[in-house]
Formats: sequence, structure tokens, C-alpha cells
Amino acid sequence: MSKILLVDDDKIVLKVLSKIIWEKLKMPSDQVLSFKDLSKVVMENSYLLSICDYHLPDAEHGEAIDFLIKNKIPTIVLTASYDERIREEILEKGVIDYLVKGTPNILEHIIYVLSRALRNRNIKILVVDDSPTDRALMKKILKNMLFQVFEASNGSETLEILKNNPDIRLIVLDYYLPEEDTVELIYSIREKFKRNEVGIIVVSGIIKTSMIPILLKAGANDFLSKPFSKEEFMVRINNTIEMLDMIKELEFYAYRDPLTGLRNRRYFFEEAGKLWTLAKRQNSKLACIVIDIDNFKKINDTYGHNIGDEVLKDFAKHLKDFFRRKSDLIARTGGEEFTLLIGYEERERLLEYLENLRKKIEENCLKIQENSEEIKIKYTISMGVELDLKESLKEMIISADHKLYKSKERGKNCITF
Ligand code: GH3
Ligand code: MG
Ligand code: MG
Repeated sequence: MSKILLVDDDKIVLKVLSKIIWEKLKMPSDQVLSFKDLSKVVMENSYLLSICDYHLPDAEHGEAIDFLIKNKIPTIVLTASYDERIREEILEKGVIDYLVKGTPNILEHIIYVLSRALRNRNIKILVVDDSPTDRALMKKILKNMLFQVFEASNGSETLEILKNNPDIRLIVLDYYLPEEDTVELIYSIREKFKRNEVGIIVVSGIIKTSMIPILLKAGANDFLSKPFSKEEFMVRINNTIEMLDMIKELEFYAYRDPLTGLRNRRYFFEEAGKLWTLAKRQNSKLACIVIDIDNFKKINDTYGHNIGDEVLKDFAKHLKDFFRRKSDLIARTGGEEFTLLIGYEERERLLEYLENLRKKIEENCLKIQENSEEIKIKYTISMGVELDLKESLKEMIISADHKLYKSKERGKNCITF
């Protein structure tokens, strides 16, 4: 069970934190009010992470934090006030981060730091520095932030590690590597990984200011001067990772329908052409199937748009279940219209399979909980299927569309091919 441990002598703080962590992250948490109770709870449970008050009546100087770190529970610290000395002291302990109680939007900030830390556990960072001391220092900070850390001391090691771990998300690159042209190294990395695939943060001591834009133009995402404070390093790392995540999400939705998670119209037309060309070249069979939900407007009018959306999601789930091959192209190409491009061997088998889908939907009863009331919805679909690889993709789609229209004319809930 992945639980969060909350340590604070204020019952209200504990209650609010526990509630918001459940609401936002759907994660359960245990609550501890004093240092005295902490060891018992830690002995008997395992925790993914903890949020701990710096000051407890029976542990006034962060002893609870030391205890948690010693027991290998990654910790986010809450302090009552901002104090330069305590801040340094807390960060030295190797915590994920610290937050000051009572600052604006503190709850959102806690959730942000918490979910960031949870996501960091799956993110790989490569530290490149010839100095073992500097490398160890950066590694330690990154480990405290829960990242998976890799190390390299020169350019060829860097490229080798990247080759073996193409899912590395960020490289922290020392500018001064002996006998190494850093700009060339960045070019080599960029030949294989785009700026939004792998981030590069260059760190350096003395450097000509004119060098910085050259590094950034060569493909570095950010630049950081040595010596840097632990905190600045942490913020820069988090910002770059956050930006990469955001770009990834944007890219994900550029080609996907956010409601159903299926491919969108844009993706369909970009990929469909390729599939058609490939089928033509290989002389293989390819079917174009257009599916439309019957009387969908009536579902919207009767139950409301939200329920209509649930029906769309339900149907998308069935489509994903039915067409699992990597080569299957399934997209939501219109409001309640879906277009599929499927490779096949025997037409009878494919038609049988499609008939199974039609029947499955006809027999399916979708149950939706709305305001303590359970709504049961049944719906049907009509299909138009073009089984021949026509002279163009466009021709195939027009023909499948035409056949769909025929299905509607024939009274819906049927397949025309
Ligand atoms: P037919 O059986 O002939 O296909 O009739 P129909 O009612 O399914 O088709 P019609 O084209 O008359 O209506 C489709 C409706 O789908 C109209 C539109 O408001 C609705 N719609 C389109 N996109 C969405 C969506 O994302 N969510 C919801 N809930 N409704 C949508
Ligand atoms: Mg160096
Ligand atoms: Mg319809």
C-alpha cells in the first residue's frame, strides 16, 4: 500500500492535509501528532513519503526529520516561519524540500511538491562531471529529490549511457570536461535527442559570458553558474523537468482526443496515408471502417451532455479492447463518429469480428452513477465497411462513409460492406 505519513502537532493541519492528499492524489495517509508516537508508526508501517513539521513539542529541533531520514522515508518539511539558518539546516539533512506554513497557496504548493516528488521516482537524470566530488554532491541532491541518478565523467561515457538508457530525461553537464569540446558534445546528444526529449542543464564555474548563448543555441535548455546554492540547483532542475513534462503532455494531446484518449482526426489523416501506401506496396489487405453511434443526439437530449460524454468514453473503451494490434489505427474523427483502418487476412473473419463488436455494444448496458442515482443506458452503433484497397485512401473513406449511410437507411444497428 502506498501511504503518506503526516507528522504535525496541529490536528487541524493533519486533517486538512490528509483530506487534500486524498482528493488530489487519491493516496491514503497516516497521521502522527508527536515525536513519541512516530517510532511506533514507522516500525509497523511502510511509507512512500512523509510530510513533517520541523517543530514538535517533544522534538523542537527537527529530531523527527532526522528520524524519518534515518529510516529512509523521503521527507518534505513544513516550518512555521522562514528562517535563513533553519532553512540551511533543513536542506543539509537531505530532505525533498521545505515549505513555510501560512504562505499563500500553501496547500496547492504542498500537493505540487508531493506529486512532483512521486513522479521524480520514475525519472532518470545523468550527471556528467569529471570531478568525483562535484558529481557526488549533485548526485546527493538529486537522490534527495528522488530521481534515479546516473553518472558519467566524460563525453564518450555520456553517449554510451544515453545509448543504453534512452529514457534519460535530463543531463546535468559540467562545462569544463578535460579534452572535451562541450558544444560538440551537446551537438552529438542533439543529433539523437531533441530538446524536448532530453533536457540539458550546463553547469560551470568561470566561463566567458559570450559562451552562454552559444551553449544555449547548441541545444542546452538552461545554464547554471558554479558555485550554486543547493536550493537554486533544485529549483532549476524542477523547472526544466516540469517544462519537459508539459511539452510531453501537449504533444500527447496534439494527436489524441482528450475525452476518449483515442487518436484524433489529425493523427488519423497523418498515419492513414502511410498505412495505405504500405498496404499498396505489400499488396496486403486493409479495411476502412466508419462507425457512428445511433441516435446519439437523443442520448444527449434525454440525459444531458455529460452522460453523452460517458457513452463516448464507454464506446472508445470497447474499441480499444477489440482492436489491440499495434498496427490498428483507431480514431475519433468526429463527434460520435470513429474511423478505423485495419489490416486483415480473410474478409469473412473480419466481418464476423465486426459483427461481434456490434452485438457486444447492443447487449452492453452502461451504468452511470449520477447524484446517488444509477442511470442505465443502452445504445447501438452502425458501421460502413470498405474492404477493398481502392485507388486512394480518400476513395476508401468516401465509400465506407457511403456504406455507413446505407446502414442508417436500413434502420441502424447494422453493418454494410
Ligand atoms: P444517427 O443515428 O443518424 O447517427 O443520429 P444521431 O443523433 O446519432 O446523429 P446526429 O448527427 O443527429 O447527432 C450527433 C450529436 O452528437 C450532435 C452533437 O451535439 C453530439 N456530439 C458531438 N460531439 C459530442 C461530444 O463530444 N459530447 C457529447 N456529449 N455530444 C457530442
Ligand atoms: Mg570539470
Ligand atoms: Mg449518430
